[in-house]
Amino acid sequence: MANKKAIVTGGTRGIGKAIAVALKAKGCAVAATYAGNDDAAKRFKEETGVAIFKWDVGDYAACKAGVAEIEKMQGPTDILVNNAGITRDGFFHKMTAEQWREVIRADLDSVFNMTHQVYPGMRDRGYGRIINITSVNGQKGQAGQTNYSAAKAGMIGFTRALAQEGAMKGVTVNAVAPGYIETDMVAAVGEAVMQKIVAQIPVGRLGRAEEIARCVAFLADDAAGFITGAVLSANGGQYSA
Ligand code: NDP
Repeated sequence: MANKKAIVTGGTRGIGKAIAVALKAKGCAVAATYAGNDDAAKRFKEETGVAIFKWDVGDYAACKAGVAEIEKMQGPTDILVNNAGITRDGFFHKMTAEQWREVIRADLDSVFNMTHQVYPGMRDRGYGRIINITSVNGQKGQAGQTNYSAAKAGMIGFTRALAQEGAMKGVTVNAVAPGYIETDMVAAVGEAVMQKIVAQIPVGRLGRAEEIARCVAFLADDAAGFITGAVLSANGGQYSA
């Protein structure tokens, strides 16, 4: 993996941060993108030395311009990790069209928007690694998350379909499905809900971002060329797909 060029969306915080750090440690040149939290991004850059880029991955034109800027800096992309994502939870009967659209846009449209920029070049060069961060809730469904579960299940369908297209061209496309991981996204649920969540995890704790980064680094490796269309679950035994 040394000297490979990687882009990690939502790479400045949480799971994405751990992925960016892990790929850098393997010798990759890494660019991390983010949406708007400049303070977190600045801290991340100071801490890790990884280059940061700010745009909304739900915006196709912004992805096109952003990837072009990154590739001008570090060269053509070998590894894309579609990690950026949001939640806008609510029971379906109360969910607004806005909540639905925001999540589909940030979590699923973004996968098209970003992959579309790098896939043709990977195909031409005969090498690529695309890794999509889905969720246990995209595998099993979760009450209060019809929008998020739909987007994350959509990522799995995308992964399986593009894996078939990319296989003959040396481009692998895989997904990692984390269970509940200790990040800002999960901290937002509050203490009472947290206790209920942990009670459902046989390992008896939340996962760590580094444990997801390890899955990504495994799939991103040159030696992982026979693994494509896979969904690698890391959820503490909560759910077996
Ligand atoms: P965080 O909320 O901690 O971090 C999200 C990152 O994505 C931030 O860097 C954020 O940027 C960026 N981001 C969000 N929306 C956009 C956007 N529209 N454009 C560009 N960047 C964006 O999330 P986690 O680390 O917890 O989650 C990472 C991924 O893992 C997500 O896809 C999530 O769905 C998935 N996941 C998480 C689980 C968990 O338990 N934490 C479980 C299963 C899956 P900024 O800092 O500027 O806001």
